[in-house]
Amino acid sequence: MEHITVTRTSLPPYEEFIKEIKPLWESHWVTNMGEYHQLLERKLCEYLNVPLVSLMVNGHMSLEMAIQAFHFPEGSEIITTPYTFVSTTHAIVRNGLKPIFCDIKMSDYTIDEEKIRDLITERTVAILPVHVYGNICNVKKIESIAYEYGLKVIYDAAHAFGETYDGVGVGNYGDASIFSFHATKVFNTIEGGAVTMRDEKLYEKLYNLKNFGIRGEELVVEVGANAKMNEFCAIMGLCNLRHVKENILARKKRVEYYLAGLNNEKAIRCLEYKKNIEYSYGYFPILFLPEICGEDMRDKVYEALKQENIFSRKYFYPLTSDETCFKNKYKDISLKNARYVSDNILVLPLYDELSFKKIDQILDIIKREINKRMGEL
Ligand SMILES: *Cc1c(COP(=O)(O)O)cnc(C)c1O
Repeated sequence: MEHITVTRTSLPPYEEFIKEIKPLWESHWVTNMGEYHQLLERKLCEYLNVPLVSLMVNGHMSLEMAIQAFHFPEGSEIITTPYTFVSTTHAIVRNGLKPIFCDIKMSDYTIDEEKIRDLITERTVAILPVHVYGNICNVKKIESIAYEYGLKVIYDAAHAFGETYDGVGVGNYGDASIFSFHATKVFNTIEGGAVTMRDEKLYEKLYNLKNFGIRGEELVVEVGANAKMNEFCAIMGLCNLRHVKENILARKKRVEYYLAGLNNEKAIRCLEYKKNIEYSYGYFPILFLPEICGEDMRDKVYEALKQENIFSRKYFYPLTSDETCFKNKYKDISLKNARYVSDNILVLPLYDELSFKKIDQILDIIKREINKRMGEL
């Protein structure tokens, strides 16, 4: 039986990639900010419509480096969301800082900007929101809070590749934004990531941090790490970038097909797509409403799909604040919405070549399970 996963890595045509990597056998220059690293940085500036891009080895190190670049005093607090991939929280903690978890909004699952103020203390140094599922945070409000309290804003934009908000590339908001180019993301470089920013000093800082602080054969100016992207990954990125628009369009068609199929399903809530956001359609999450279909509908559907070799994912369950490594370590703040969404969300398979027939089958299974449940209630 065909094995359907929640996503599938997009690859360029084999011949295209092979042709592009051939020069590496002539130059033998396969990493260390080579030609393709520089070229992909420039191409991404164009595509993302941002002034500066620093390419990194992956999205997580992009986050770690972006936070580190600001040299916050140890033990400082960063206000963030627990409704994300663990990488976001790990990056804060691994920098010797404290995550302060803020609840999310039911409307789009991003950080609730109205609740940020109450969490600010004299130790707060930054806000780290996530554009979860490509839903853009309330960037204007967050910016004004940050300005009022003198805080930095670093966006985890791993889900928002190429998206625009009011016509502006999302990477322009905040002091820095990070993107992930992991194999499972809309745009991939196998493993990879980037930080976008406006400030040239920050770009230089990140250059140091991603390459041991080396600035010359006999010159090390800073205690940096090694987080730079290699040339093979950069070339994969250059190839994939040529096809990413088509990929996003194919995803959009599948999202529309899902939405049409779920239109009359009262027990399920889908994302609301706003007019002022251009989406990249990375994920298709559905929320089961326990008031209508009972507490464990999500898990029932997850299992039913699995029986048919269809692997949906409970993104994001558990909340990062509930993960074994963080549980009971940080302040216990009410995370009512985040917990509700985390307990009832299911991300369905979505990628450019997912067949509409498969989507029909997925929709049938979901409807069958809900109808079964409604018959019992
Ligand atoms: C994927 C992802 C990351 C980490 O990116 P990697 O490239 O896998 O290191 C960080 N945050 C979010 C929200 C992600 O989805």
